[in-house]
Amino acid sequence: MDTRDTACPPTDSAPVQPKDFIRLIVEEDNRTGRWDGRVHTRFPPEPNGYLHLGHAKSICLNFGLAREYGGKCNLRFDDTNPLKESDEYVQSIQRDVTWMGFNWDGMYYASDYFEQLYQFAEQLILKGKAYVDSQTAEEIRTARGTLTEPGVNSPWRDRSVEENLDLFRRMRAGEFPDGAHVLRAKIDMAHPNIVMRDPTMYRIRHTPHHRTGNAWCIYPLYDYTHCISDSLEGITHSLCTLEFENNRALYDWVLDELDAYHPQQTEFARLNLTYTVLSKRRLIQLVEEGHVDGWDDPRLPTLSGVRRRGVPAAALRSFCEKIGLARCDNMVDIALLDHCIREELNATAPRAMAVLKPLKVTITNYPEEQVEWFDFPWHPEKPEMGTRPLPFSRTLWIEQDDFREDAPRKWFRLAPGKEVRLRYAYYITCTEVVKDDAGNVVELKCTYDPETKGGWSKDGRKVKGTLHWLSAAHAKTAEARLYDRLFLEENPMDKKRHGKEFLECLNPESLHILPSIFIEPALAEAAPGFVCQFERLAYFCVDTRHSAPGAPVFNRTATLKDSWAKTERAGLAGEG
Ligand code: ATP
Ligand code: MG
Repeated sequence: MDTRDTACPPTDSAPVQPKDFIRLIVEEDNRTGRWDGRVHTRFPPEPNGYLHLGHAKSICLNFGLAREYGGKCNLRFDDTNPLKESDEYVQSIQRDVTWMGFNWDGMYYASDYFEQLYQFAEQLILKGKAYVDSQTAEEIRTARGTLTEPGVNSPWRDRSVEENLDLFRRMRAGEFPDGAHVLRAKIDMAHPNIVMRDPTMYRIRHTPHHRTGNAWCIYPLYDYTHCISDSLEGITHSLCTLEFENNRALYDWVLDELDAYHPQQTEFARLNLTYTVLSKRRLIQLVEEGHVDGWDDPRLPTLSGVRRRGVPAAALRSFCEKIGLARCDNMVDIALLDHCIREELNATAPRAMAVLKPLKVTITNYPEEQVEWFDFPWHPEKPEMGTRPLPFSRTLWIEQDDFREDAPRKWFRLAPGKEVRLRYAYYITCTEVVKDDAGNVVELKCTYDPETKGGWSKDGRKVKGTLHWLSAAHAKTAEARLYDRLFLEENPMDKKRHGKEFLECLNPESLHILPSIFIEPALAEAAPGFVCQFERLAYFCVDTRHSAPGAPVFNRTATLKDSWAKTERAGLAGEG
């Protein structure tokens, strides 16, 4: 079935279509009985780095399809390159897939198939469909030709079956050094698709493998391995990103030549996101060169990074649903991801009190020693989440930004002579501004109205502003880390456009640390990973790495301002 004639929608971020093209293919296959009603997908990461948001799209697609159609999805480690792979990555990938909310039906490793892959390669040699080439890697590259010129046959292309078999066996036995020979498929050096010009299937690598140890010194290449692994596992729909479109011909060729069970490969557009990079190679560089603080740095688009920042998996699943699936590459606005994070946290995150940039307020008519406790709901729309008492006293902290000495006309927060509500407590009026020698405001003297207890006036007098606050004597301190975009350019990789290397696009202000903020008492003991909204400020999460009991570090997960929701309301979403 040709799956490529559907027109591309304008962008991945267009409103969710009822059924994307892959689901339509699955349903058509189920209708015609092509796979006897089976749906069996796989998520096949190479364990050479941590998973990122692009992988989340592939995870949601593969595991999601299996879930929706009562099928199965395997987790398969595509571990054919021992130089770059490790068990640390294998473990992190399992953690991330589980965190995303999915369970695999089977967990496999391409390295489990090394013996079978080897036997299949001998079969191809016996059929005259593979040969041992003794050119150097460089010679092979030059002889491959270009898009406009055919390649040139290798001088070793016509070796006899016996010679090929003998050499291949001796490659396996370790008789040759790295690079001495490779095994190539014998297809057509003039093929219009360069992938088909006698692709390399095996190379010699005297390198131990993280799972097979020293058992092998020849390793199969991705294209050869992937299709056979899919076939052995009985995969039905082999879904991959668009850059593998040209490789589909080889996928089909290998399985046809081996007369093997033959899944259908279908390509979809990879996720690209503004102001970040989604490529393991680049992410490894950021981590290894120390531009960020490890794979789980909250600024990174890795799944471990966004998890540490406090992003719930549900927000990522909803994001993947909203971006949909398309067949042409495009760029998704990172504001859409932020929107999904806010949408999820707005519904689920408890509200808490914190003051990031404190300004002292003294309530001059409030008794010195008095403390009153007010009940604060954990969530304004979810009474089932309960309440907790917060203390009110004569000396308070409010946010510096909530006071302006020269307030403009429509300033509803505190200003000299103005009255505001302290949330759930009292109305207060600013009567005096205290400054230091340099003229900075260091304290406000205010009076409170005892008739407004709970934050409501008995005489029906209204105030427009409601501020968050903390009792100075009871507040605890903590550190807050405010994160911003990691890159200043929309597409850091687009050198043609901005003339810079991607590292030169890094945002020097992507992390801003507030070493001492004030938090309500209960938060001091919050467990690592706890996410809440600091009322009127932002969503924050207790950092899992740097927090100690009683001394939490808070990562800003997302701000409250939603630029995406506005665009969407204006009907502009998905247009650019
Ligand atoms: P990278 O380009 O970041 O190195 P990769 O494609 O090499 O990624 P793999 O480990 O091979 O990473 O990917 C596992 C699966 O995830 C593949 O099926 C791949 O197509 C898919 N995938 C990787 N990146 C993206 C992305 N940005 N969007 C959607 N799917 C992706
Ligand atoms: Mg890859």
